[in-house]
Amino acid sequence: MPNTDSGGERAGKPPDKPQALAFVLFGSPGSGKGTQSKLLGQLLGIPQISTGDMLREHVRHGNAVGTAVEEKLKAGILVKDEVVNALVEQRLAESDTARGFILDGYPRTAAQAEKLCGMLAARGIPELVIHLVVDYNVIIARLTGRRQCPVCGTLYNLVSRAPKVSGACDLEGAKLIVREDDRESVIRERLEEYGHQTRPILDYFREKGKRIYEVDASHDPPEAVFRKIEVLIRER
Ligand code: AMP
Repeated sequence: MPNTDSGGERAGKPPDKPQALAFVLFGSPGSGKGTQSKLLGQLLGIPQISTGDMLREHVRHGNAVGTAVEEKLKAGILVKDEVVNALVEQRLAESDTARGFILDGYPRTAAQAEKLCGMLAARGIPELVIHLVVDYNVIIARLTGRRQCPVCGTLYNLVSRAPKVSGACDLEGAKLIVREDDRESVIRERLEEYGHQTRPILDYFREKGKRIYEVDASHDPPEAVFRKIEVLIRER
């Protein structure tokens, strides 16, 4: 965690507990939010909370939430705010979030951003918003090249992270698939939703006086993008 010690140690008092932070990884589909969130979670030892992963898990279990959202996920359409807000609220009530957490794919609408600001204010946790900025054409190339192992879930990319044997998972040997929501028509839908509903949240944060840290994530490999994130966290 970044050192937010307020100087208690120097004054002879025990060091203050490091301030928990809510990292908000923001960016369009295909910007690398998932990868960067996982790396950040490993570095800081705090949980990565991906609403997309949580929703897919419900679909896999075939429970009431899963059944209600399944078609939306397949079509790349945003799930209702009430559903996602409730999932995040429940997740943030778990004890492993006490030292901070990383949000990946949330908030995605103004109503979610408002809800998040309320939850964080109630807990006295400041947010740190990181916007991964990626060229539109790079996004398209990345999303259409994405493949996934149906067994272990590992993600590959035909352009930037090809499997060792074409079409097969390095770990399981299983035939890689195109995730339902990575089909081209669905990708267009997801990018449109992002432009209309999600991108404007940046203005909402700015209007509330929140700083947004921009990271250029168009061309560098994931490790290099992550180094930029590490630097900004250290130096902010
Ligand atoms: P992701 O894995 O983050 O790309 O999310 C996959 C899909 O889950 C999205 O296309 C939406 O259908 C749904 N989803 C994930 N997060 C949210 C959210 N915060 N609000 C609404 N729908 C979401």
